[in-house]
Amino acid sequence: MAKRDYYEVLGLSKGASTDDIKKAYRKLAMKHHPDRNPGDKEAEAKFKEAAEAYEVLSDEAKRARYDQFGHAGVEGMGHAGQGFNSMEDIFAAFGDVFGGGSIFDQFFGGGGGGRGERNQGASLKLGLEITFREAMFGCTKTIDLKRNEDCETCSGTGAKPGTKSAACRLCGGSGIVRQGQGFFVVQTACPQCHGAGKTISDPCATCRGAGSVPKKVTIKVRIPAGIEDGSRLRVSGEGEPGRQGGPRGDLYVYVTVKADAFFERHDHDVVCKVPVTYAQAALGAEIDVPTLNGSAKLKIAPGTQPNEILRMRGQGVPTGRGTHRGDQLVIVQVTVPKKTSARQQELLKELGVIEEESGEQRNFFERIKSMFE
Ligand SMILES: [Zn+2]
Ligand SMILES: [Zn+2]
Repeated sequence: MAKRDYYEVLGLSKGASTDDIKKAYRKLAMKHHPDRNPGDKEAEAKFKEAAEAYEVLSDEAKRARYDQFGHAGVEGMGHAGQGFNSMEDIFAAFGDVFGGGSIFDQFFGGGGGGRGERNQGASLKLGLEITFREAMFGCTKTIDLKRNEDCETCSGTGAKPGTKSAACRLCGGSGIVRQGQGFFVVQTACPQCHGAGKTISDPCATCRGAGSVPKKVTIKVRIPAGIEDGSRLRVSGEGEPGRQGGPRGDLYVYVTVKADAFFERHDHDVVCKVPVTYAQAALGAEIDVPTLNGSAKLKIAPGTQPNEILRMRGQGVPTGRGTHRGDQLVIVQVTVPKKTSARQQELLKELGVIEEESGEQRNFFERIKSMFE
């Protein structure tokens, strides 16, 4: 199916302002939201399409590329071009469009089954650079990050040790107030206690009543084999702490894969260039080729040509949880010596005479000449 123009998707013209884009996306997301259209595949597709359009048009750099080059310009950037895989991706990426927490919970009364529980903590984002080989075989990375942890002085209550907090009078301890607003009943965080559900008359001195303090923590993140550059990993429950005993938010790790000096990745294959002498290419040979696992023998057939691509099966990128591997593609680089010894010159001259006699060069000129006749 042909991809629709992103402006068309959002019902906007090219010059639309950032604000218009946000408003238009919000409207569409509300309309096609899966909770309002259960089991409706078309609504789901529209919901995803709108999210993809929004992802590109809300980002200045991506939007500029899109305006200039169309869909091709943003292919491979974020989700553009391949679309979002899951609803969770969309909520994670754009929850903040709707002003803190998740609008979907506010407008649809929560109950989204696991997704975005009301008291769940905020998610954290983190960039991580790994080497090419780490990406190929997977690895476990130790990551330092700063996030809020329960205050040790007050054990997370926010009240000075020995004192107690009282339930907030405005919200009755729920942390939420409801306001009628047209068609919807909007639930918002209680303005009095900011969603905490309690008032502290004697706040803890260490955390000033917040119940948590920023701390450095070290966690381990498992990077799966075959991960692609620009991937996002979700580490569940490693984000900010939840409110009122709610679960922690998630940690999103954005993975960058460093380029390798020898290998280049093409989907599930790795590509490399290997030098071969004229004699090896002409006569055939068995050479050692570096692989991701060390090295392996590769047969060069007699008469192999420059830039011919030889395939080494199963030496590429692990796929399908490590059950399969792509191939290694070797581009043959026939090399010409820059310096030659007297003996080499002697042999090459002799070879030159034989080649002259064989008439290969002459045949080439004959062929060219016949083309112009
Ligand atoms: Zn309150
Ligand atoms: Zn404290």
